[in-house]
Amino acid sequence: MECQSLCVEVVLKFESSDKERIKLACDSFLKSGRFNPGNIISKLQDPFLIDNVECIIIGDHSAFNARAINFSQVAIRWFMYVLDRNGVQVEADSDENGEAINLATVQQLPSAHYYDLWESLVYDTNVKENLLKYAATSMLYADKGVNCNIISCNKVILLHGPPGTGKTSLCKALAHKLSIRLNKRFKRGVLMEINSHSLFSKWFSESGKLVTKMFARIIELLHDPSIIIFVLVDEIESLTHAREKSMSGVDPSDSIRVVNAVLTQLDQIRKHSNVLILTTSNMTAAIDCAFVDRADVKLFIGLPGAEAIYKIYHSCIEELFNAHIIVPRVLLPDSYQQADQVRDLIQYADANTLINISEISVGLSGRALRKVPFLAHALYIDEDTVNIQSFFNAMISAIKHLEDDKK
Ligand code: ADP
Repeated sequence: MECQSLCVEVVLKFESSDKERIKLACDSFLKSGRFNPGNIISKLQDPFLIDNVECIIIGDHSAFNARAINFSQVAIRWFMYVLDRNGVQVEADSDENGEAINLATVQQLPSAHYYDLWESLVYDTNVKENLLKYAATSMLYADKGVNCNIISCNKVILLHGPPGTGKTSLCKALAHKLSIRLNKRFKRGVLMEINSHSLFSKWFSESGKLVTKMFARIIELLHDPSIIIFVLVDEIESLTHAREKSMSGVDPSDSIRVVNAVLTQLDQIRKHSNVLILTTSNMTAAIDCAFVDRADVKLFIGLPGAEAIYKIYHSCIEELFNAHIIVPRVLLPDSYQQADQVRDLIQYADANTLINISEISVGLSGRALRKVPFLAHALYIDEDTVNIQSFFNAMISAIKHLEDDKK
């Protein structure tokens, strides 16, 4: 049988660690336990690993289909790295009155801020895996100098769909993941998030200059071929809206100039081999933007179905078990499929309830789902600790509350 390969990330405490020794220790640790794709293991027993490793992250791959992995039968691709802990830096400028304008935020990657973001996002389809493959192929083609007039490859990715479905998070998580997966080619990554709202706020006449300044900064970074730059433009439709917007007292042609400046600059920088442009849009219909037409990958990110919802709720409840807020801990299978197989058994009555709750939650966004446990506790539970049945009842009330809010 062909040996399936699987990525395993080891988050190191120190850059100077003995990586070979750590790899061996992690290898025997993984072979001795039962772990699933996407698991983040931070409770390590081996004192050597405790001293050197923050956590081990097991790659999520559809071939393993949420089953426990037999590590003796997989070829592990190891990725070892230290997280950046400096947090977000703001690229600011000031207008003619000396007021600060935040043009963009800059985050070094891989970042402690995003260490588990990729794993926390749950979808019913293989969207994450495909996105990673698309992006990695774009970078490979650019790196090998493939002519993009012959093979269309523009290094622009657009995620679109309803608000709260995790598009922005997915872009950030993708940048983080790629900075890890491509670490043989790039020493580190930088995520630059352009604040399109501030570009079009009140200083239209100033904005043209600001755009040029900001991109000059990006181009400066691009000259170092060992750094990979991810440029994130959130809600790209705001660029096109700005074109249509005519503000009183402001020459609307200024706003057009700014939009054009941004689009031209984005067009220029995507020619570099070490850049990837990530864009999001909340519009489900077509976006009228010439730049977006160039996107290699346009992925629709929809609302989660019952299976993804089960997994999201499961992770929330696991967190509350760990925090000793829901007591005692009860047996809840990790996935909807596993829960579905045992839901008729009396000892799995709670799994059955969680399936039912997941089904009544279809229609809520991922963002709303992650609020349900908090709302449940805040609005419907008076005690600090609670048993799972009472918590489930409170969740049902919170879901009704959110649905009423939508009306
Ligand atoms: P969007 O950009 O689509 O409006 P965000 O990236 O701002 O969405 O999502 C906000 C938060 O909602 C995320 O950080 C995450 O906690 C939660 N979320 C959204 N979609 C999902 C999902 N599919 N799985 C898990 N969490 C999600």
